Amino acid sequence: MPKVVSRSAVSSSTDAQPTESSAAALKVYYCLCGEFILVIDKSLATLPRRKTDGAIIIRSQDSDAGKAIVFKLNANPIDPVLLERKGGHERQYRFSCPRCQLLVGYQSTPPPVKTGPYLYIYSGALTQTQGQVPHDAFDGENA
Ligand SMILES: [Zn+2]
Repeated sequence: MPKVVSRSAVSSSTDAQPTESSAAALKVYYCLCGEFILVIDKSLATLPRRKTDGAIIIRSQDSDAGKAIVFKLNANPIDPVLLERKGGHERQYRFSCPRCQLLVGYQSTPPPVKTGPYLYIYSGALTQTQGQVPHDAFDGENA
C-alpha cells in the first residue's frame, strides 16, 4: 500500500505565502498634503539622523562607508540657502513638495538629486500614511 502522507506534505508548500519580493519591500512616503514624495527600499525610521538638525540621512552614493540606498525623490529643487553652523557655513540645496511647496529635504550639492553623497529628509516632513500627520511633525518646533 503506497504512502500518501508525504505527497500531502509536499502539496502544502504551494499554500505558503509568497516570499516578499524587493518590490514589496519598497516604502512609500507622502507629504502632509498627500502628494507622493519618496519611494525607498528602507524605512526612514531605521536610518541615521544628523545631530545638527535631526534630519534623516539617506546615502545616495556608494562609498567606503556603505552602499547607496535605492530611492526616488519626487520633489522640486528650490533656491539654496546658506546656514550658519558651528565652525562654519553650510549650503543646503533644498527640495520642496511639487504640490504644496513644503520643504521636504536638502542635499549639499546642486540638483538633481543624488549628485551629493547624501540626501537629507527633514524630520517630520513625510508620512507613510496619506493624509496623516507623522508623530514627530512638531519635534524641534522651538529649535
Ligand atoms: Zn505637499
